[in-house]
Amino acid sequence: MFNSDLDTKNPTNTRRMFMASAAATLGGLALWSWRKSRVVEVAAAGAPREVTIVLFSDSGQRLKTVHVAEIIKTEAEWRKQLSSNAFDITRHADTEIAFSGKYWDLHERGIFRCICCDSALFSSETKFDSGTGWPSFWAPLAAENVTEIRDTSFGMVRTAVACTQCDAHLGHLFDDGPEPTHLRYCMNSASLRFVPKS
Ligand SMILES: [Zn+2]
Repeated sequence: MFNSDLDTKNPTNTRRMFMASAAATLGGLALWSWRKSRVVEVAAAGAPREVTIVLFSDSGQRLKTVHVAEIIKTEAEWRKQLSSNAFDITRHADTEIAFSGKYWDLHERGIFRCICCDSALFSSETKFDSGTGWPSFWAPLAAENVTEIRDTSFGMVRTAVACTQCDAHLGHLFDDGPEPTHLRYCMNSASLRFVPKS
């Protein structure tokens, strides 16, 4: 009884909650629709575009620069390959809950590959404790391997970071990181696969 009274007598709160959740949904959709349009563009062009990436060995050694076709898969194919959490984050630009992922507190040596396409993205050598609850790096392994995207979702202007080879959403880039770059690549653990140094 009390709850229903509250609902009917205080419509402002209900409306505010609705607006907040609508804004969040629209924000997520804004980034997603941008990403989706690229998939549509690729389909229209008849072939995936070529991208330049740098290959690394599992021990983190830089091997060579290659030109490869961007990896394009359908929603169903990605869903089959990934956990539902990794699918939501990498393919629909979701964000994992802080301190919930596998890697924010990982201090082993090794490299981090893309969970979707295995491209080498980050190294433990540039990982630092940001206190945010997300794995944070001050540089990628190779600038070519990550792509920065302007993201205006959630009423904020941020820089989203995607995997160059497969367009997986990885996280966001901020300029409050440590020396020497002052950058903070704030990543989702679910977007990454850690390969320990043997
Ligand atoms: Zn990838």
